[in-house]
Amino acid sequence: MLPPEVFVVTEQVQGQLTPVSFELLGAAKKLAEEMGGASISCVLLGADIRDLGEDLASHGADKVYLAEDQRLALYQNEYYALFLTKFFKKQQPEVVLWGATAISGELAATVAARLETGLSAHCSDLHLNEEGLLVQVVPAFGGKVLGDILCPSRRPQMATVKTGIFSSLSKGEGAGEIIYEDTSILDGCSPLLKTLKVTKEKDRDTSLKEAAVVVGGGWGVGSGENWTLLERLSSLLGGAVGCTRPALDEGWTNGEHTMIGTSGITIKPKVYIGIGISGAIHHLVGIKDAEMIISINKDAKAPILSFSDYGVVADFKKVLPGLIEKIEELS
Ligand SMILES: Cc1cc2nc3c(=O)[nH]c(=O)nc-3n(C[C@H](O)[C@H](O)[C@H](O)COP(=O)(O)OP(=O)(O)OC[C@H]3O[C@@H](n4cnc5c(N)ncnc54)[C@H](O)[C@@H]3O)c2cc1C
Repeated sequence: MLPPEVFVVTEQVQGQLTPVSFELLGAAKKLAEEMGGASISCVLLGADIRDLGEDLASHGADKVYLAEDQRLALYQNEYYALFLTKFFKKQQPEVVLWGATAISGELAATVAARLETGLSAHCSDLHLNEEGLLVQVVPAFGGKVLGDILCPSRRPQMATVKTGIFSSLSKGEGAGEIIYEDTSILDGCSPLLKTLKVTKEKDRDTSLKEAAVVVGGGWGVGSGENWTLLERLSSLLGGAVGCTRPALDEGWTNGEHTMIGTSGITIKPKVYIGIGISGAIHHLVGIKDAEMIISINKDAKAPILSFSDYGVVADFKKVLPGLIEKIEELS
């Protein structure tokens, strides 16, 4: 049986709590109720974060552990992982939830490796089974299949949770205790990599929505290495890269905002080039307003081909390098 405590790793960027931090408290509350009234603890790292801690305490956290240190002001993987590994070795939690964000995704993986435990990424649901184990539900194959992942023997059971799945708790749900943690473990660490500053990136949704040429990649692209071919093509054409759900789930793309379709964005480029995409209706609704659709698919029966103005039936790996070379010659 799980002990009555669920841990959440909250995050701040530039002194602001990220929305997923509050959603994680919502997820923790659901699990805490399934456990018959467990408490919810969260940990936050940063500098001058007392106010943020109080905010978390008033949004349902029973205990808020703060690692307050100037060295933690910006996300630094080595410092953050060092602190959290020690912290969780001390706390011995059964369950730890993280946001499926760029920062927490990387950090959770580092900490999971150091704690020698498992980690399920991008969970869309969480619940306990009859044995009290955390069931980590992960969508696969473009959401067609939901996989239940268990971590039966290693501890803690850790999961990153997709943003926008769980509801945040309202302000006023609880008045938790604030506990300051010792950060002197950082003294012996000289990080090889250091974040110097955080700058807000141009809204990439807008750049994808406004691009005259969009190169879309799907499951058929096959790997992150192959994905660089799409990025090269798009940059030569002054365009942007979008993706399907499976390509997003594989982590080949720049993030959720690049997914095109019913659950993603709708685009209206002059030219859309779909590569390794079957043409599921969920994706097609996002590209139907493109002025011209070109697709490359090795299966002549792929639905996207009949939706396209021009279709190439081929392995894209045999087509793209030559196309890129030709465009480079002409530019
Ligand atoms: C509620 C719901 C909402 C959804 N919302 C979205 C959404 O917003 N956007 C979205 O995209 N999906 C969405 N999906 C998923 C959607 O239904 C499809 O599963 C998904 O679009 C399929 O992606 P795909 O074409 O990349 O993969 P697949 O369907 O697996 O197709 C891969 C294609 O690549 C081709 N291929 C393989 N290797 C090569 C090669 N070497 N060269 C050329 N071609 C190759 C194959 O022939 C195949 O046609 C949603 C699903 C659900 C249930």
